[in-house]
Amino acid sequence: MAGTLQVVEPATEEVLEEIPRAGAEDVDAAVARARAAFPAWRAVAPADRARLLHRLADALGERLEELAVLEARNAGKPIADARGEMGMVVDTFRYYAATPERLLGDTIPVAGGLGFTVREPLGVVGLITPWNFPLAIASWKLAPALAAGNTVVLKPAELTPLTALRFSAIALETGIPEGVVNVVAGPGSVCGQRLVEHPDVAKVAFTGSTEVGRSIAAAAARTIKRVTLELGGKSANVVFADADLEQAAAAAPGAVFGNAGQDCCARSRILVERSAMDSFMAALEDSIDALKVGDPLDETTAMGPLISAGQRESVASFVPDDAPVAIRGNAPDGPGFWFAPTVLCPVAPTDRAATEEIFGPVATVTPFRDEDEAIRLANDTIYGLSGSVWTRNGARALRMARAIESGNLSLNSNSSVRVTTPFGGFKQSGYGRELGPHALDHYTEVKTVFYATEE
Ligand code: NAD
Repeated sequence: MAGTLQVVEPATEEVLEEIPRAGAEDVDAAVARARAAFPAWRAVAPADRARLLHRLADALGERLEELAVLEARNAGKPIADARGEMGMVVDTFRYYAATPERLLGDTIPVAGGLGFTVREPLGVVGLITPWNFPLAIASWKLAPALAAGNTVVLKPAELTPLTALRFSAIALETGIPEGVVNVVAGPGSVCGQRLVEHPDVAKVAFTGSTEVGRSIAAAAARTIKRVTLELGGKSANVVFADADLEQAAAAAPGAVFGNAGQDCCARSRILVERSAMDSFMAALEDSIDALKVGDPLDETTAMGPLISAGQRESVASFVPDDAPVAIRGNAPDGPGFWFAPTVLCPVAPTDRAATEEIFGPVATVTPFRDEDEAIRLANDTIYGLSGSVWTRNGARALRMARAIESGNLSLNSNSSVRVTTPFGGFKQSGYGRELGPHALDHYTEVKTVFYATEE
């Protein structure tokens, strides 16, 4: 064990908990436990595995408030959001609890016998997660991995390991066998790296930055490890003049300042049809004025602090003294990593604020002339995770939905993540899909069996 990890509460800057810091040898031990537990876990009858996952969902539901408060304090997110996320964790386990009995294969016509496919679990799966939606994102990986019969080693972000540690204790209490779920809380460069390099880890499911994702893909190549990557984003929120502008402007702050902008789906590039700029900006200012930034545990708070001093410094670098600040919301003074919601306008599409993922409450607004220019601007990014289009013209909405290069797109809405539908990126936002039925493809291998019928 390599010392301790001080877990800080971003709203107060005080130490919330001190926990042992895992090192590479702890990863090796966790992988060994997961490997030993795999044969028995994959052999659990499908209905029994389903029952265990339902029981786990029940237990998480019973502890929802406790987990939500812990997540709100550790990640600095509003308690209402944290409750929503913990609700999603429960729903995710419930959804995948239905799948062990539905992992279907195919029968395929072949000469001289019968060809059929079965879905086999991969073995030990390494899960590496970020700090912005700690347990929610972990559950998107844990639930399908376990449902498919894999055992797991989860490495949460070192800033927010607390709900993952509670989760592993709850899993054990509800009857998930010892060794099936393992959590190692330690630095990414040590524990994450070891997981990626470990020869007994069959797959790594990663959510985090594009930079780290790139290094994981490269390191995993050495053992031909399966990898799925959910990476960064720079999503566009495209507002046409024929949209319900009041509704689009009322929804825009939530789409970029939710979770203090630390959201891979943040619609941080607002593109507005030129003729609607003035009315949109006026309505946007009203909705940002109404956004309450403050104590995450206050029920009326809409936005909390950033995760760390380092993150605040990085976000602030996108708003230098000469930045074109068009709207600035409020933020508390005193301890806490606060940053007021900020809108930059006008911003050229080549500006750093319009091209790089800021991961904080800073949005840019750029006008566009027509549909073609809107598509060009929306796609002028290395990322392709999410996005929105606001228009009352249905045909245009569908044309835009097909033209924008992103894994998820919302029309007259900003919501992109659901338990039952696939989620993931185009381009450098990653590959693979989480959630929905598609996630199971990434936690199983397809095996083809030929049975000769000729004697
Ligand atoms: P990060 O890439 O710094 O860290 C993510 C995880 O990787 C952490 O657990 C970290 O410890 C670990 N890690 C770091 N270096 C590693 C290495 N060399 N080998 C293995 N693991 C390593 O990301 P972050 O700052 O925690 O999260 C923010 C980023 O995550 C943003 O870019 C955001 O867009 C992205 N994100 C993407 C999604 C998505 O679903 N696409 C969701 C949430 C966050």
